[in-house]
Amino acid sequence: MHLQKRVLVTGGSGFLGSHLCERLVAANHDVICVDNCFTGSKQNILHLIGKSNFEFLRHDVTFPLYAEVDEIYNLACPASPIHYQFDPVQTTKTSVHGAINMLGLAKRVKAKIMQASTSEVYGDPAVHPQPESYWGNVNPIGSRSCYDEGKRCAETLFFDYRRQHKLRIKVARIFNTYGPRMHPNDGRVVSNFIVQALKNEPITVYGEGLQTRSFCYVDDLVEGFIRLMGTKDEFTGPVNLGNPGEFTILELAELVIEMIGSKSKIDHLPLPSDDPRQRKPDIALAKKELGWEPAIKLREGLVKTIAYFDEFLKRSN
Ligand code: NAD
Ligand code: UDP
Repeated sequence: MHLQKRVLVTGGSGFLGSHLCERLVAANHDVICVDNCFTGSKQNILHLIGKSNFEFLRHDVTFPLYAEVDEIYNLACPASPIHYQFDPVQTTKTSVHGAINMLGLAKRVKAKIMQASTSEVYGDPAVHPQPESYWGNVNPIGSRSCYDEGKRCAETLFFDYRRQHKLRIKVARIFNTYGPRMHPNDGRVVSNFIVQALKNEPITVYGEGLQTRSFCYVDDLVEGFIRLMGTKDEFTGPVNLGNPGEFTILELAELVIEMIGSKSKIDHLPLPSDDPRQRKPDIALAKKELGWEPAIKLREGLVKTIAYFDEFLKRSN
């Protein structure tokens, strides 16, 4: 069997990473999945283990790694506020030391490297929707800062490695993404609401629920990753990847209740600190450079995600 490319995915047993690995394995690439299993799990990649073009390596990216590869997708980092605030020093280390280690590897083996950055680099944005040219409004000392500033510093490192060492880099700024294999207890809004609604428990809306988010289905996002990696070397990004459909958190709660036919009531809890009031990607650049835009509407993506959690809850009972 002729394998296409040798591809390293850090954070490969997490939510997004497992979908990316699946897609790369199906495309006949030789995939190395590196993960320390902090928030990810072998369960997410169980169906890939045993395939001749897939390899799992338990490794923490804050330590150096050597592997002969052609492309690196750097996704390692806890993504939900509960998990990244659990050990904030480690979160910053993972973003910053992890980026340094993976960039060092890319430099040694002349690999192309993509960074999974985030809409959090825009902080609580004063510009709406957010284009890539917006520099953001980020609190450097708050409880979300370990993640936001870690990711901002990683972007800096990517661009300095490009300027200094001529590395082929790609930076994706990912907006809220959801789908099967989200961690059921990681506190993210889509998984929380679906699990609560399936159990007919109160839906926990933080604050009045008037803050907005834009939700991208995982398959659309993975398509964006692949297209970004395939762009010409001169194109580095940063490029926003997300679904511009914007919803208030209250609208999401009502939609999930309706779709599940749940008896859940809405419970308003205090708003966490530094919670961004609005978020919606401007995806003009992704459309132009990647020919990409999301194809899956929120309702359609929720059907698949609800089916996943329904099955998951039945299995764990
Ligand atoms: P996730 O928590 O499911 O996946 C992250 C993976 O990284 C996990 O498998 C975890 O075990 C692993 N990891 C964490 N620290 C590590 C370390 N030091 N060494 C090796 N592995 C480590 O989250 P996700 O939603 O799949 O996010 C993947 C990436 O995408 C993250 O970098 C995240 O910041 C970014 N992102 C995600 C979203 C989203 O909505 N899902 C939005 C913006 C950015
Ligand atoms: N949120 C909520 N109830 C929950 C979980 C989250 O109201 O049970 C809100 C949260 O305050 C935020 C939005 O939903 O305004 C998205 O939260 P999430 O943690 O999913 O992502 P992020 O804040 O990083 O965009």
